[in-house]
Amino acid sequence: MSSANKMPDPNPLRTALHAIDGRSYKAYKDLRGAYDCNGFTLHIDHVQGDPFAAPSRLRVEVPQDRAGYPSGSYANSSRASALCTYLATQFAAQCRRLRGKRGSGKSGLIEIDAPGQEILPRTSIHIDAARVEARFAVGLPAQGRRVLGRQAAELLCDDVPAIVASALHYAQNDAAEIDRYVQIAEDADFLRSQLVECGLVAFVAEQSVLPRRSGVDERPLEDGAIPFQTPDSLRVEFDLPHAGAVAGMGISRGVTLIAGGGFHGKSTLLAALERGVYNHIPDDGREFAVCDPTAFKIRAEDGRRVEGVDISSFIDNLPHGRDTRAFCTDNASGSTSQAANIVEALEAGAQTLLIDEDTAATNFMIRDHRMQLLVAKDREPITPLIDRVRALYESLGVSTVLVVGGSGDYFDVADTVIVMEDYIPREATSTAKAIAIDHPSRRQCEGRDGFDPPPDRIPLPQGLDPSRGRRGVNVKSRGLRTVLFGAETIDLAAVEQLVDSSQTRALSAALLYARENYVDGQRSLRKILDLVMRDIAACGLDVLDRRLVGDHALFRPQELAAALNRLRSLQVRAAS
Ligand code: ADP
Ligand code: MG
Repeated sequence: MSSANKMPDPNPLRTALHAIDGRSYKAYKDLRGAYDCNGFTLHIDHVQGDPFAAPSRLRVEVPQDRAGYPSGSYANSSRASALCTYLATQFAAQCRRLRGKRGSGKSGLIEIDAPGQEILPRTSIHIDAARVEARFAVGLPAQGRRVLGRQAAELLCDDVPAIVASALHYAQNDAAEIDRYVQIAEDADFLRSQLVECGLVAFVAEQSVLPRRSGVDERPLEDGAIPFQTPDSLRVEFDLPHAGAVAGMGISRGVTLIAGGGFHGKSTLLAALERGVYNHIPDDGREFAVCDPTAFKIRAEDGRRVEGVDISSFIDNLPHGRDTRAFCTDNASGSTSQAANIVEALEAGAQTLLIDEDTAATNFMIRDHRMQLLVAKDREPITPLIDRVRALYESLGVSTVLVVGGSGDYFDVADTVIVMEDYIPREATSTAKAIAIDHPSRRQCEGRDGFDPPPDRIPLPQGLDPSRGRRGVNVKSRGLRTVLFGAETIDLAAVEQLVDSSQTRALSAALLYARENYVDGQRSLRKILDLVMRDIAACGLDVLDRRLVGDHALFRPQELAAALNRLRSLQVRAAS
């Protein structure tokens, strides 16, 4: 759509792009700035150095009196993140449509950080009473290392306004669909807020669809999914602000076992609880499967590093008199890693622990009667979870939901036993208790009474060096489960409730932010987590990164702690 033969184009951006056509790629740099684009403002915040570098960062702002969103649609944080999730999805769909037109490749690419199944606060879209803002990435077009000015003008002066018009204006969007997003998010947050006073750690609504399409596809299973059914004895009902009465299975505080034969849906239920700390988009199937927001998935993670963690509640009398009250290792075993994961989760405020036998260390979970006879207690450093799980609840109020298909010894310590059969739960607490009485396990309880809260640890600044050689600060994420911090690589493979690579990006920024602002050798790790999360709550995710990035998503303090704890250079001292 060249304007060469028409009236002189009043758009200064188009003029500028035409003027640099064919020049060296560096000429794009001069375009940084803000442009009035007839109804919105386009900001070119960062221009890539060359055609192969990370794409340029752009932003549009549409004044709210033009965008036209009813103030109710973003009136609170539940609503605002749901609306922004919807808008990012729309914006992404428009970008894809263009990509179809243009073909692939970085040159001419336009892309927004699009949501998955979870509704997370993100930096890609922001909405308030003044404006709607969208941040996106553009590969400024090149041929070799020359500017393709006319293509760039088409992209920025024709395509971007078209995307803005169809994706960001309320009148062009589906109002009913927006209502659905917003109402589901508000209902789910309401549900989650009711859990505590109802004495529950989780709730799964009747008819929820829990199984996913595949291990790498979080969308709901399409064919043959058996909708969730509620056992009568565990049935709870809530009156939601929008959806009205919703019934489902309540999982009470305390110790809950999920038993059942292999392949009957145990891990799928637990995975839904793991993800139930987040809200889900409409039609996900888990909209009303919610969990205590502090719940943390615990697993064995052999090989990880552990720094100064008090695992003595689970492990003591190590060979050579090694201290387990401030346990350090560069190469944890299955059981020591699982113990450290629990203690670190408690330190980060987890009130519910989620454990799946599939990813647990057997010797951490159980030591049966025969093994107790073969190996005396004073030769076994590990006090298995079965002997600590009640104390966790009774002393600290921390609940545990365990998938256990292999050890009936756990019947003794469970408050509730759920059996999964053909993907349908039934309650079997009284049966399990009767079996426990008729068939005593004969094992000796090895645990002490009580469970002390983890002592404070104080991270030392010298353990967090974000620089790499003379290259200065080098902190970034790679994919979903890796953060590079200075010369260190943080492996988050076992941190399963990290669900979006934009969370990982934000986490890497948060580590640097914590280091620069709060890690002073005086503050405890707990305090540092509080301060970082408080700043984000007060100022938004942008507080973490001055560059106005569009691809950050919110994480929980538990994941921030998990990242810090897996930094291999971390050094802590005990609080005096
Ligand atoms: P378990 O942990 O009991 O061995 P899983 O939870 O891993 O079983 O489930 C086994 C298989 O059944 C998985 O492929 C899962 O996707 C599928 N599945 C789980 N729940 C359902 C359901 N409600 N409907 C259909 N398939 C399901
Ligand atoms: Mg399983």
